[in-house]
Amino acid sequence: MNSLLRRVPSYSIISNNSLRKLCSTDAPDFNMENPFEKDKQQCILCKQNIQVDYKNVRLLSQFQSPYTGRIYGKHITGLCAKQQDKLEKEIVKAQSAGLMATYLKEPVFLQDPELFDVEKPLRPHRF
Ligand SMILES: [Zn+2]
Repeated sequence: MNSLLRRVPSYSIISNNSLRKLCSTDAPDFNMENPFEKDKQQCILCKQNIQVDYKNVRLLSQFQSPYTGRIYGKHITGLCAKQQDKLEKEIVKAQSAGLMATYLKEPVFLQDPELFDVEKPLRPHRF
């Protein structure tokens, strides 16, 4: 116990002013940003700030199965609930307006790049 006490440095060696300076630099900065904060996850439409529109059939058909014409689910497209809901509404609107095919993907759009991997859904599904 005594040897421990002896090892503790005496602060009388450091002047009061320099001690104050030391304390001010070592004090935690509570106003700094959290360096461990993760990046906000955003879906592809929110990230690029794309407004889904029923007239943009080329974009809408990228979320449609080429075999059945079905709209891919949220677990496959990776969209947020808001954008997925809007997308589905716009696709139905485009289909009822006769701009978009219902049971297949327009062959013109078959070569379009894929926005997501259909084989690897974000969440596993039953089938
Ligand atoms: Zn989103």
